[in-house]
Amino acid sequence: MRLLPGTRLVIATHNPGKLAEFAAFLAPYGIEAISAGALGLPEPAETATDFAGNARIKACAAASAAGLPSIADDSGLSIAGMGNAPGIHSARFARERGGFAQAMADILAQLGENRRAWFTSCLCLAVPGDEPLFFAGECHGSIALEVRGTHGFGYDPIFIPDGSTLTFAEMGEAAKNAISHRAVSFKLFQAACLDQLR
Ligand code: IMP
Repeated sequence: MRLLPGTRLVIATHNPGKLAEFAAFLAPYGIEAISAGALGLPEPAETATDFAGNARIKACAAASAAGLPSIADDSGLSIAGMGNAPGIHSARFARERGGFAQAMADILAQLGENRRAWFTSCLCLAVPGDEPLFFAGECHGSIALEVRGTHGFGYDPIFIPDGSTLTFAEMGEAAKNAISHRAVSFKLFQAACLDQLR
């Protein structure tokens, strides 16, 4: 499946951080990105038990409401020393604590020696009338000893990707977007579906 330059693609997220990353990823491909918020699309309940299932719910809901190709990302942070939590419940974990500051403080307070962690991103492309396609990426690293940095969003200030000494929130958008879980899943989507503008 190829999405040609000029295609209108709905980015099925209400998360401004994810939206900014998608806009940066899509810029070289001549795709007209439209946010779910701009179309007034509701946020469906994420009732699946894995990343792919929730990505499918979001992408398919947007595609059928808008009648346009739609892409959704379901993502999260898995922490080995917390039994791989919060994982698919990463957004809820922060919501239940009133935001990311408290969520990150709680994680730092309970983690011991094992600080291994990874982000997962599962993208789902839903095109009306076609079977949905899935592209998954991971970025492995560790949890910092304290909150560091001001760029990015969500759990970025406590995640240090392997090969770096900086957190995602310290390294800035371009460096994060070169190696992140969403960069990996987007690269697979791009190889399967997008042609670079000449
Ligand atoms: P979703 O919108 O249901 O996929 O929730 C994803 C959750 O994981 C949100 O709480 C995000 O803040 C968090 N998350 C996903 N990707 C990232 C990232 O790149 N950096 C920091 N947090 C992320």
